[in-house]
Amino acid sequence: MKAAVLTGLRQMEIRDVPTPELKHDKEVLIRVGSVGVCGSDVHYHVSGHIGKMRVEYPFRVGHECSGTVEKVGGAVTILKPGDRIAVDPAISCGECDQCKAGRSNTCRALTFLGCPGESEGCLCEYIVMPEGSCFPVGNSIGLDRAAIAEPLSIGVYTFRRFGRTQDAAIGILGAGPIGLSVLLAARADGVRSTYVTDKIDERVDIARNAGGASWAGNVDKEDVVAGILGREPLGLDAVFECCGKQEAIDQAVELLKPGGTLLIAGIPEIASIQFEIEKIRRREISIINIRRQCDCVETALDLIDCGGINVDFMITHHFALDEAPEAFELVAGYRDGVVKAMIHA
Ligand SMILES: [Zn+2]
Ligand SMILES: [Zn+2]
Repeated sequence: MKAAVLTGLRQMEIRDVPTPELKHDKEVLIRVGSVGVCGSDVHYHVSGHIGKMRVEYPFRVGHECSGTVEKVGGAVTILKPGDRIAVDPAISCGECDQCKAGRSNTCRALTFLGCPGESEGCLCEYIVMPEGSCFPVGNSIGLDRAAIAEPLSIGVYTFRRFGRTQDAAIGILGAGPIGLSVLLAARADGVRSTYVTDKIDERVDIARNAGGASWAGNVDKEDVVAGILGREPLGLDAVFECCGKQEAIDQAVELLKPGGTLLIAGIPEIASIQFEIEKIRRREISIINIRRQCDCVETALDLIDCGGINVDFMITHHFALDEAPEAFELVAGYRDGVVKAMIHA
């Protein structure tokens, strides 16, 4: 089968690789349909690592995918060939302390699609996954929407970790796919006001218009902290950091009201970030780190299917599998107003 493979820093080739086969009777062979290009895929492409997770070449990334069931193992009970599915890229063990505590996202034996040292990714024509990682989708959803359910599920989970909706005003710093997914999840839950920032004008416009943010501003063109606090003099109940930047962490601390919550969903390129302890201590700011998502794929699919969430505006570009190198360069350069580039395998 055809696969897009990382072969070096900022190098990707289309290669012929063996088609995977079912090895366990609860597995499913999937004909990959759509694959969303994630910021983390691009991190691996451009820098060869995220923190200590280092790529050994050749390696295949990709984890936001949907597809059609091609073949099922003998013990598969629900899925059958021809079913269209969204894929949860995380495979947890179900037996460790974390899984038993309902925290499968921090499973001690987790393998994640397209994560170095764990599993090859889905930028190819076929993958094998356990049945439990596959979620059937109706015809109304379509394979692009099914693939974007993965980042949306992170938005749903991130907002759920804040845990409050009633009369809350929130900030979202970074309007990429994760920031926009948090925005959609927050609006679906009926949050009072949403304030979104980014450095790219197209993303600010998307957050304000299609995303329905109460307010959106460009960090490089205006004092966003003053702009938001002018509208929310008491400060925000929660700030969702969705860009992995120290300056966003600093802005979040300025924006939060006493007792507020900072949720960190962004992946910083730097090894450590800093907090001004005086500010977070006196105002008793809570800090919550987000690790992907836990049990939110079905909720995300339901929101897309019948919860009134329109995710189509996030899908800005389409590519064939052969064009995966171009798609990665586009996303790496934040060019042409790209939010989510979708690769069709
Ligand atoms: Zn992703
Ligand atoms: Zn586990």
